[in-house]
Amino acid sequence: MDIKDYTLEEIGQFLKEKGYPEFYSKQIFCWVYKKRVEDFTLMTDISKEARIFLKDFFYFSKPKILKRFISKDGTEKFLFSLDDKNAIESVVIPEGKRLTLCISTQAGCRFGCRFCVSGIGGFKRNLKVSEIVNQFLTINDIIKPRIITNIVFMGIGEPLDNFDNLVKSIEILLSPYGVYFGKKRICISTCGIPPRIRELISLNLRVRLSISLHASCEEKRSLIMPVNKKYPLSEVIKVSKEYAKRTNFPVTFEYILIKDFNCSKEDAFKLAHLIRGINCKVNIIPYNFSPYFKWHSPSIYDINKFREALKKKRIFFTFRKSRGQDIEAACGQLRWVNINETETK
Ligand code: SAH
Repeated sequence: MDIKDYTLEEIGQFLKEKGYPEFYSKQIFCWVYKKRVEDFTLMTDISKEARIFLKDFFYFSKPKILKRFISKDGTEKFLFSLDDKNAIESVVIPEGKRLTLCISTQAGCRFGCRFCVSGIGGFKRNLKVSEIVNQFLTINDIIKPRIITNIVFMGIGEPLDNFDNLVKSIEILLSPYGVYFGKKRICISTCGIPPRIRELISLNLRVRLSISLHASCEEKRSLIMPVNKKYPLSEVIKVSKEYAKRTNFPVTFEYILIKDFNCSKEDAFKLAHLIRGINCKVNIIPYNFSPYFKWHSPSIYDINKFREALKKKRIFFTFRKSRGQDIEAACGQLRWVNINETETK
């Protein structure tokens, strides 16, 4: 068993059942996540007998980076091979004092948004807790002395569709004995799955939430996001409001601007109307081109018109510049690959 698949509580419980002190779990966490020591024999504050037992029972996965791409804008993309034939990608984005890590949660994606290449090969499997956490640990080790300041679950896959493993990996990242990352610096991005968002609320994790909206009416959203047929915009808006209220953090609404589709003045006004009264901000991002889809990014003129319309309605928004396009590391450009394909990638 891979020790990095388990939370502090689970390891504590396991130790107790096997007759060892439960608090060893805290020491193990410190060694693995703080001191970055992945060898039980070196964990000197744990009894020798327990160390031998743990070594027999658990192993430490060693993630393999197949390729590291560096963009001319400083964005970096890492291609990880997993134990099976799957490979996934993570991206590091420097921006001023921030260094944001974008993490994948699934190999492939089952949601098939009609603008995102992550779903093109369909869904392969959920990532394990260790595979999620290892993206952070490995990259943080490699890029030293720089440190990751923000984590976004915005890579390949739908985080809320791998709910249990997502939550466990966040618990490890947040744990004071583990990585001890700040809640406000972790963001989950979702295509909008209300029952899972309610579960997040009841778990009281209080990380940030970003909702991929991309349209301001049901018809248009259904055209580009099939998930809207099951969970309509109206439901997604309702639950976003609840999330913002309960966490006291603004939610972010992601809105891709697609030429001749969703970026007219009327679209902006409808958007403003839809989210009125919600503690939120809108993040607009021009569509990143992909040859798999028919869409294009709007002109600067159209983008500015959309921004002006939002301003007029007093909507707080940010404009996200696309990063890492030259290495296919921008939003919607990450994709699962079969390892046999990577030679040609
Ligand atoms: N499944 C999650 C997280 C992965 S997508 C979600 O839907 O939020 C991460 C972000 O990239 C989402 O906001 C997504 O809508 C956006 N995105 C996908 N394709 C894009 C494209 N071609 N151009 C710009 N953003 C895109």
